[in-house]
Amino acid sequence: MALSRCKVHENPQGRNGNEYVTNVEPINFPDTSSICGRNNCNNPGLIWLTKEEKKNYDDDKMRIFNFPNSATKVKVK
Ligand SMILES: [Zn+2]
Repeated sequence: MALSRCKVHENPQGRNGNEYVTNVEPINFPDTSSICGRNNCNNPGLIWLTKEEKKNYDDDKMRIFNFPNSATKVKVK
């Protein structure tokens, strides 16, 4: 599942076997509603994708991804 992390808090370490291999920009980045999920950081977040999500992005042109909870999804460029 995707994660939102700013440029300061990049290269997130995934849990549950998730390994993040790349990041993409959410729609309207940096003026985006996707905010870094790290501690109390309020910077705009890049969307980090797992290997499988990167394949979906590259091969299937998927642009909407799930965060680890079901509260929202995010659309990327
Ligand atoms: Zn941050």
